[in-house]
Amino acid sequence: MKTVDSAAAAGVTGDANGWASEEILVVLRRFWGFESLRPLQAEAIQAGLERRDSLVVMPTGGGKSLCYQVPPAVAGRTDIVVSPLIALMKDQVDALRLCGYPAAALHSGMDQSEIRGVEREIAAGRHRLIFVAPERLLTPRFLELAARLEVSSFAIDEAHCISQWGHDFRPEYRRLAELKTRFPSASVHAYTATATERVRRDIIEQLGLEEPTVLVGSFDRPNLLYRVRPKLDVNAQIADTIRRHKGEASIVYSISRKDTEHIAAYLASEGVRAAPYHAGMEQDERRRTQDRFAAEEIDVVVATVAFGMGIDRSDIRCVIHAAIPKSIEAYQQETGRSGRDGLPAECVLFYSAADVIRWQNLMKRSAEEAAAPPEVAESGRLLLEEMRRFATVVRCRHAALSAYFGEIYSGANCAACDFCLGEVEGVADSTVLAQKVLSCVARVEQRFGVEHVVDVLSGASSERMRRWGHEKLSTYGILKDLPRKTLTNLVYQLIDAGILERTPGDRPALKLNAMSWEVMRGGHAVSLLQAKKPKSTRTRIEEASWRDVDEALFESLRKLRREIAAERGVAAFVILHDATLRELASVRPTTMEAIRHIRGIGEKKLTDFGARVIECIKSHG
Ligand code: ADP
Repeated sequence: MKTVDSAAAAGVTGDANGWASEEILVVLRRFWGFESLRPLQAEAIQAGLERRDSLVVMPTGGGKSLCYQVPPAVAGRTDIVVSPLIALMKDQVDALRLCGYPAAALHSGMDQSEIRGVEREIAAGRHRLIFVAPERLLTPRFLELAARLEVSSFAIDEAHCISQWGHDFRPEYRRLAELKTRFPSASVHAYTATATERVRRDIIEQLGLEEPTVLVGSFDRPNLLYRVRPKLDVNAQIADTIRRHKGEASIVYSISRKDTEHIAAYLASEGVRAAPYHAGMEQDERRRTQDRFAAEEIDVVVATVAFGMGIDRSDIRCVIHAAIPKSIEAYQQETGRSGRDGLPAECVLFYSAADVIRWQNLMKRSAEEAAAPPEVAESGRLLLEEMRRFATVVRCRHAALSAYFGEIYSGANCAACDFCLGEVEGVADSTVLAQKVLSCVARVEQRFGVEHVVDVLSGASSERMRRWGHEKLSTYGILKDLPRKTLTNLVYQLIDAGILERTPGDRPALKLNAMSWEVMRGGHAVSLLQAKKPKSTRTRIEEASWRDVDEALFESLRKLRREIAAERGVAAFVILHDATLRELASVRPTTMEAIRHIRGIGEKKLTDFGARVIECIKSHG
């Protein structure tokens, strides 16, 4: 197995087999208006051209699609891309067609006559790329079509779906193992954004890749700003965060369907253009939300994990986790949906140990219902534990994520996480505070849960307090100066730190352990954390991304983009990316020749909307 890392690779290289860099560059300029390849793209494209099996791991936004789009265009052949979701296929095909690149998709959202029409085009060799779902690929009808076309190369997008260690295991992906037996001389190229070493091995094994070229890009996304905040008043916290991204696209992830609806309603009541999205909604309604988001008619989607893979809107500036996701893979994937255009984006996770417990219960229940093999349930438990550790250990978030994916982070201060920006601080007198909480747990005889203990500490006046005589305890009201939600969060921090136990089951109670007694005796210092309010001003990295950009012109260009998208019935982001709009709003080209040099405008887009862009720039004075 040959592994190349990103540091070793840059630029376009010529090749002994005759695919010269010039041919690749011509295609690159013609369709996309790009001048050069990114690290690893050259190697991945060469593997595609030479039809050597490969596994390409690049972060979201790293430019994987180009790696399988370029080879068939250069070689003049038809390749097949296996993709898990219709929305994903549709957006890719729309985007490719806007660039003048011949591509088509076959999916269950099309009626029979449309399918027949596209099949005829494919059979006539009119397309360079065909997108299909794994189920369709393995139907006799499609296999026959592929055999007739003598398809010699398959790309598997979102290849981690094949592994139970991935965050998005899809049983139908397992059948892709058949590809190598059905098309023994074809090459198979797997692409994914998230893969630990374990998942990589699994992908190679499951797909039966032969001596694959393994290309692993850097996982780090320097343009993403990671923040983890204690979850206190989550609705207000979310609204505050969204306010920093007024008029920009954001996604809020939460665990349950009900949560998505509550949060979306709250945001709407605060004047935010938000809508919920979850698997319990009618398909039409879901599609409507998705379309409105793509058309920039709403700014925020509040979703369960059901929303995502189909979303490749490239200008998402903020991803919020209202609750911890169930693995670092999921976190990386979901936060990775922001800033795909390379511009800065913010990712905020509101953490509470209560949500970890919620996940544990949900996982236990679903494992029982699905009668899943014990190893699948166990892998789920371990992945969640890793995520909990990520959220609770305070160190550079970029370094922690890199380490998880087996990479050493070289920067000393990333300037793009709560830790490096100095936004996390210790709570004053943490040890004394902890002692008060622990002694309260002792006073209530270790028989009550978090809620009740917090009630006692904050001096709640309730029937329950009186019934148990707890208003007479020495710890009653001893922490009444702290807001209740802050107090609850601190109790959960003690659980996270192993200083306090919580019994499993439906009526969990807080229990003391050896560590608790050690703390109470003064033999162990505790450090509890709290978040400083983030500055509402932009960070250094955000500031740099706006340098020389005329922000008003940028907004006008966004408006023009929305208009063009509406006329063509496609998502706004496939017309032109934010990065291209910002370059336009900074360079302000006013001739066709000058626009040609802007990154992201190929020949077809130049002909199709160059004049309107110039008009917009000129009318802006
Ligand atoms: P991925 O599939 O890895 O998430 P994409 O293929 O969607 O990433 O690429 C992310 C963005 O980067 C897209 O806007 C794409 O057009 C852009 N991009 C890809 N390769 C290049 C390149 N060589 N030069 C400039 N932009 C690129």
